[in-house]
Amino acid sequence: MNGDDQFADVLRANQRYVREFSPLDLGGRAARGLAVLTCIDSRIDPLAMLGMKAGDAKILRNAGARVNDDVLATLVIARYLLGVERAMVIAHTDCRMTAESPARLHEAIRAAGGPDTSDLPFPTSDDQVATLGADVERVRSFDRLEDLQVGGFVYDVRSGALTRVC
Ligand SMILES: [Zn+2]
Repeated sequence: MNGDDQFADVLRANQRYVREFSPLDLGGRAARGLAVLTCIDSRIDPLAMLGMKAGDAKILRNAGARVNDDVLATLVIARYLLGVERAMVIAHTDCRMTAESPARLHEAIRAAGGPDTSDLPFPTSDDQVATLGADVERVRSFDRLEDLQVGGFVYDVRSGALTRVC
């Protein structure tokens, strides 16, 4: 089987996209000076929820919208090289990373026919607001990002509404 068969639908869609495409003349900078860290949940459309479009913001995503070393390093690059002056950390309602313990996730992966993942540190939380506050504080207190404005928010996947938490 041709490896592209699994991607035929998206490659076909890309051919249509290319016909309408016009490149952005931004040199990779975020036109609205914003970085957004949010969860990988497919219900979240970060640019649309903020009234933005391609070119406006840097989007970082991981399971649970958690601040980790990779996020901090990426924000440093975004801050000093890509025009970012403010960052939103956006958790969301009905997030599996707040609903289940790491042990339950490891079990669920095994039950789904997956491998033993018990050595993978899944970033779950049993207190979303406290975790969000701690993650925002981690960015604020990072000594290489002192002049970055940071806020913590929760996105409601049912209403589309964003609420500032910290
Ligand atoms: Zn999530």
